[in-house]
Amino acid sequence: DDMSVGYGGLPNEDGVVELDSSGMYGPTHTAGAVAALRNIKNPSKVARLVMERTDHVLLVGEGALKFARAHGFKEEDLLTEKSRAVWLRWKETMSDRDNWFPPKSDSVPEELRSVMSTHGTINCIALDAAGRLAGVTTTSGLSWKLSGRVGDSPIIGAGLYVDNDIGAAGSTGRGEANLQTCASFRIVDFMGRGMTPEQACLKVCEVIVAKTKLVSRLCDDRGLPKFGLNFYALNKKGEFGAACLYQGGSYAAHDGVENKLRDAAYLYKRRERNR
Ligand code: ASP
Repeated sequence: DDMSVGYGGLPNEDGVVELDSSGMYGPTHTAGAVAALRNIKNPSKVARLVMERTDHVLLVGEGALKFARAHGFKEEDLLTEKSRAVWLRWKETMSDRDNWFPPKSDSVPEELRSVMSTHGTINCIALDAAGRLAGVTTTSGLSWKLSGRVGDSPIIGAGLYVDNDIGAAGSTGRGEANLQTCASFRIVDFMGRGMTPEQACLKVCEVIVAKTKLVSRLCDDRGLPKFGLNFYALNKKGEFGAACLYQGGSYAAHDGVENKLRDAAYLYKRRERNR
């Protein structure tokens, strides 16, 4: 039922769900990833096998699917009836200068119309009692993306980075801005230079804002990004933190005692956001 990520996630512009995922294991500094993978429900498991059963890091598209098949993954249609209906409505109402148009009585229920464009990702980073760090990022990416578009999630250093001597970081939100700044790598690097996880996440948010200012199309009338981007970080000592461009983000963290949702730090108040 969740249309933000994975099975049932909103598809690309052709109505096909394409998934990206990466994993990285600190003790061996090894990583595996898949991008633009179709028909496989659990791309993170395939990414893990790329890490554990090949000498490569990233497999894409048809090659990633062939690799998943070789490992016995079952192919299935990841588009649910609900996400197909929402995709079709998007397609039919996108323009009056093409040959698609919606039926007179709209088949998409009212409550689903607000989900006309979405994105969703899961980033999970962890430290165990033996001091081993690891992470995973997995996503269906941006809805209505161009076929073959790959986001930040499967790119080591962007959507995920782990250095067992320092810490781990990951991201959700508009992947293009992350790809252009290698944000997860930077966060880990900032932590290596003495910043707390939260300070490092905030610092990278500042970098994103500064670089986005160079492209007016992506900025609102105050010169701030029109998109959202969120970062999560954990250091070798088990300290953690998160930051978003805009107020309102939260993240789940287990501190060894309890698991709870916490507020992420942010640069700007939500009212300044203009999506
Ligand atoms: N970061 C993902 C991407 O750009 C999307 C998301 O986090 O929602 O593919």
